[in-house]
Amino acid sequence: MGNFRHADTMNVGAEARLIVETLRQVTPRAEIVAVITASGRSMSGIEIEPLVGPKSKNAFESIRERVEGQLAGKEPLGSFTWVLDDVEWGVLIDAIELLDGQIIGALVVARHGRAWSQRECSLIRAFGGVFSQVATLANREGVLLHQRRLDELVSQVAERLMSATAANHKEVLNWTTRVLAEFLHSDVAFLRRNDHVRGVSILEAEWPIRDDIPDPDPLGEVRFDNDPIFMATKDLREPFLPGFEDTTENYMQRVEDGSGETLIAGAAVPLLLGDSTWGVLGFIHFALRSWVPAEINALQAVASMLVQLQARIDAEERTAYNAYHDDLTDLPNRRALLRELTHRLGTRRDTAVLILDLDRFKVMNDFLGHATGDRLLITIADRIRTSIRASDYVARLGGDEFVVLLDEASSEMEVQASAYRLLGIVAGPVNIGGQFVSHTASIGIAIALAGSNEAGLDLLSWADGAMYVAKARGRNQAVVFDEVLRQAANERSSMELMLREAVEGDGLRLHYQPEVDLRTGRLLSVEALVRWQHPTQGLLAAAKFINVAEETGLVLEIGRWVFAEACRQLAIWRRDYPDLPLIVRVNMSPAEFAASDLVAFVEKCMLDNNVPGDRLCIEITEHAVVDEADKVANILRGFQDLGVEVALDDFGTGFASMTELKYLPVDLLKLDMSFVEGITTDDYDRAIVESIIRLGQALHLSVTAEGIECTEIVEKLLELGCDRGQGYLISRPIGSEELRPMLKAGGVPMSLLRPAKPTLEFASTLS
Ligand code: C2E
Ligand code: MG
Ligand code: MG
Repeated sequence: MGNFRHADTMNVGAEARLIVETLRQVTPRAEIVAVITASGRSMSGIEIEPLVGPKSKNAFESIRERVEGQLAGKEPLGSFTWVLDDVEWGVLIDAIELLDGQIIGALVVARHGRAWSQRECSLIRAFGGVFSQVATLANREGVLLHQRRLDELVSQVAERLMSATAANHKEVLNWTTRVLAEFLHSDVAFLRRNDHVRGVSILEAEWPIRDDIPDPDPLGEVRFDNDPIFMATKDLREPFLPGFEDTTENYMQRVEDGSGETLIAGAAVPLLLGDSTWGVLGFIHFALRSWVPAEINALQAVASMLVQLQARIDAEERTAYNAYHDDLTDLPNRRALLRELTHRLGTRRDTAVLILDLDRFKVMNDFLGHATGDRLLITIADRIRTSIRASDYVARLGGDEFVVLLDEASSEMEVQASAYRLLGIVAGPVNIGGQFVSHTASIGIAIALAGSNEAGLDLLSWADGAMYVAKARGRNQAVVFDEVLRQAANERSSMELMLREAVEGDGLRLHYQPEVDLRTGRLLSVEALVRWQHPTQGLLAAAKFINVAEETGLVLEIGRWVFAEACRQLAIWRRDYPDLPLIVRVNMSPAEFAASDLVAFVEKCMLDNNVPGDRLCIEITEHAVVDEADKVANILRGFQDLGVEVALDDFGTGFASMTELKYLPVDLLKLDMSFVEGITTDDYDRAIVESIIRLGQALHLSVTAEGIECTEIVEKLLELGCDRGQGYLISRPIGSEELRPMLKAGGVPMSLLRPAKPTLEFASTLS
């Protein structure tokens, strides 16, 4: 019967005869096998002689009459028993219809004595189905119509597939299988995907969608090696069109037992992706079915569009995945976090946002190398991921910052407890190449109670603020963003706005604080300190706003203005006091070292104002050096090449180890005032100051003291070997005009630096 698989109009007459002959063979006890046309219908030359046994002539005539009557009256056809001349006949009538639904005749099979069994009925109907198709093909118009409708179908499917997105593509696949199956009158259609890695075939779409799909679904995922039929589809390259003769009696029986239907024909069209078979598009008919080339071509066209769609969706999903995940740890990224957070804030549940930042990660990254740093981050990401509850969420913000969202987190105490548990988990030692590294972290927490309408970004920035407080309080702790912090944050953000205005307008000023030789009072240098002429609060010291400037990046603009202004002022003083070897010191923030043109900028200011490098000194804090030692060291060397001195400010509070110091391009250490003020009273402070002074001497670095407020300190410093310093005792920072008398005098009177002796007037009053 495979002969008429690719039937065309030329041989349909022969096909039809073959069908009837085969039908005769499979129903050996049939006494009548006939094709009866509806009156006035043409079957385009495929009419065939009825096969009627000699004893059945009369019965056939009655049957024909009845069938013709039924066909004319469009009555339903079917199987029935009929008593003719006292003999019972089992008659089965199956309509022959064109694809457009017109009934043009009927296939009749009859025998006497017994009705047809269920199985026989479906077999005969299957033949009727094939006959219908052959009839359709026999009808030239039918062929053209069929072809045209196939073309329309393909373009309709193409249009739908082209506009499919990752979100609706399952739906589109189901729709595609449905319209194809309906068009081809298939009983079942499906799309399966081959997972060659796992060796399984996976159901992607089906029609009709089964009513109650068992769980697990035996058709959902099938191992290739579990079933020869699935194995056959694994590397299928060409359409496979199993027909009646391809199925074994056994197999048919099995299908029948399982479904009550007789499987007769099918089609499996491979979805080819390069050299491999991506999957298969399948159609099953519980009836005979012949396929015409146009149909197979159409299915192959649809198959290739399905593969293209899948390739496009895969690419989209990959891009979407990348857009929402962090490469290194595979955790959700910032964008995904914001989406999730917004979603969670929309539900009526309490949510806690925890920002976890590793303590001094940069240092360890530089010290152990980036590969090690990456491994540490991956390990920590895994630890957090596996330690939180399923309803919690973790993302990586980038760098060494992670965010954890805790679900249903209402009490501050509870959240704190979770945060400390997390700190413990993170800090557990990590084995990296045989080396155990353990790393503490700091956590900032912001809590949004259900219905509080907080914005995700606000929560993040509050948690971030709290995290900085945790760092400032000594790291390795968790801090909740509470009312006190909230108020400070509010002040901060209004301050930021105003500071921006001040920077853009001319709200900045420079004050200068002199440094003198403690032995002679001679002026050595002045330190430029920025001031903000605040519209309502008067002149603000740097300490009041420099942090905000650093956090907001405004410090970059401020720093440029300060340096240029200091150079301009120095040029004026050099002109007015040509004999004074005055040095101007300028502070620079760590952030300023990120700009690649910093050294070039310094050089330009020097040239513009005609000031030599040895009249300038740049002060940086120890923190700046420690965090990015190599990079900063290069820039400092650039300054030194210009003749500019480099001072390490607030020395003793940072983390530079004493031994590292000798590799740093630094000329001067400035003793932090927190130690200086203690040297007369606190043994510990005195010990530190003493060791720093010795260190300076050993490394040939000058050491100067900050924050000298009384003469006792001057005495003590001189005793310990430090002979230069600045502080309120000598002078507060003052404006450039106010400074003139001291510049003119070249220093301060020695009396200022010595303990006040009873004055002469006082003594004489006594005497
Ligand atoms: P610093 O460089 O260590 O400056 C010394 C700070 O201590 C100044 O505060 C100064 O007014 C204050 N001070 C000086 N002598 C005494 C004293 O005897 N007792 C006390 N209690 N304080 C004294 P100011 O001007 O508020 O500056 C604070 C910090 O802000 C500076 O510390 C410096 O790190 C930074 N800063 C100041 N101006 C600038 C600038 O133009 N750029 C940058 N990047 N940072 C600056
Ligand atoms: Mg300073
Ligand atoms: Mg200082």
